[in-house]
Amino acid sequence: MKIGALREISAGESRVALTPDSALQLQKLGHACVIEAGAGEKAGFSDAAYTAAGVDVLASAHAVFETVDVVVKVRAPEPAEAAMLREGQTLISFFWPAQTPELLEFCREKGATVIAMDMVPRISRAQKMDALSSMANIAGYRAVIEASNHFGRFFTGQITAAGKVPPAKVLVVGAGVAGLAAIGTATSLGAITYAFDVRPEVAEQIESMGAQFVFLEFEQAQDGAATGGYAAPSSPEFREKQLAKFRELAPEIDIVITTALIPGRPAPKLWTQDMVEAMRPGSVIVDLAAERGGNCDLTVPDEKVVMENGVTIIGYTDFPSRMAAQASTLYANNIRHMLADLTPSKDGVIVHNMDDDVIRGATVTHQGAITYPPPPPKVP
Ligand code: NAD
Repeated sequence: MKIGALREISAGESRVALTPDSALQLQKLGHACVIEAGAGEKAGFSDAAYTAAGVDVLASAHAVFETVDVVVKVRAPEPAEAAMLREGQTLISFFWPAQTPELLEFCREKGATVIAMDMVPRISRAQKMDALSSMANIAGYRAVIEASNHFGRFFTGQITAAGKVPPAKVLVVGAGVAGLAAIGTATSLGAITYAFDVRPEVAEQIESMGAQFVFLEFEQAQDGAATGGYAAPSSPEFREKQLAKFRELAPEIDIVITTALIPGRPAPKLWTQDMVEAMRPGSVIVDLAAERGGNCDLTVPDEKVVMENGVTIIGYTDFPSRMAAQASTLYANNIRHMLADLTPSKDGVIVHNMDDDVIRGATVTHQGAITYPPPPPKVP
């Protein structure tokens, strides 16, 4: 089959869904690859690099849609892109079907098969295709780098002839994939790192990354733990305890990285205005939950704001795109693994096996039907 990647047209998006390396892997599966001219440029992959990897470079998105069986991209398609889909064509990209019902219906009407990378079930076998995790890992890392860029001091403590420098104190709120990556980055830069999560089972992971788990004294342990490894909303009593603990920590903490999310809900507000006001000048907050409303009361999505007391709050929502080369490499690998599972005989023939938990879970339209939401996976 022919696989083609588009140049992303969303403002500020620098990633690309196919790299020269992933194209070589796809060719080993029996596929031919094409790319829209300039698609990899912002991620550091030139058209010449694609050509050297055996990829045909086509002049326009239109030419890609005309030519290929499978379109791969990063962002959910814009209306103009979805309009170019053909019957029987497959699109693989982030799609967010719960938030884009009209786009979903439009793709169904077009007769296209859509595989949503954000719907890949989070089971062990699918980890190699888990683009949410690969991008969250980058976001967590980049959040710390971005914080350090705005923080006017070292992370690591030093005693030099010029004086004694205390280590920075970092608090990570939410220890999922992004939070753990942030912890690893902050500790490797030498900060004293604390982390909090409502799921008590992550305490061990937090400690193994070199951070201290912020423990709350509460009768039912951390009560926001839910089934399936995700968090549920906390009780008002628990939330009060949590906020009281953060209020106590705020004057001491130099950098706060918040990543707390609850599936299907707005981000919980955990870093309140009075906590921001209690922080020292020069402190930095990076709110990785900004796109879902933010964990901090004062976050402005996509902006960096400096408060009157000299605290910087960063609400960027494009951290993976800010590391476009790395993000594209990992995302293109996730896509390549998805295509490997769709090509079981490695003969360039795609078999869309709806009995496969991973393929079924990620498929949101197929053969003229909306197939979202999927049934729960059979294998945990
Ligand atoms: P997420 O992005 O949904 O949430 C981030 C974190 O915020 C979670 O750890 C959550 O517990 C925490 N949180 C929610 N409310 C909070 C609050 N009030 N205070 C503090 N923290 C709060 O999480 P994620 O990174 O997508 O990971 C969720 C789960 O999925 C984890 O258990 C992870 O290990 C699991 N996972 C499994 C796989 C796999 O098996 N393939 C892949 C990735 C993640």
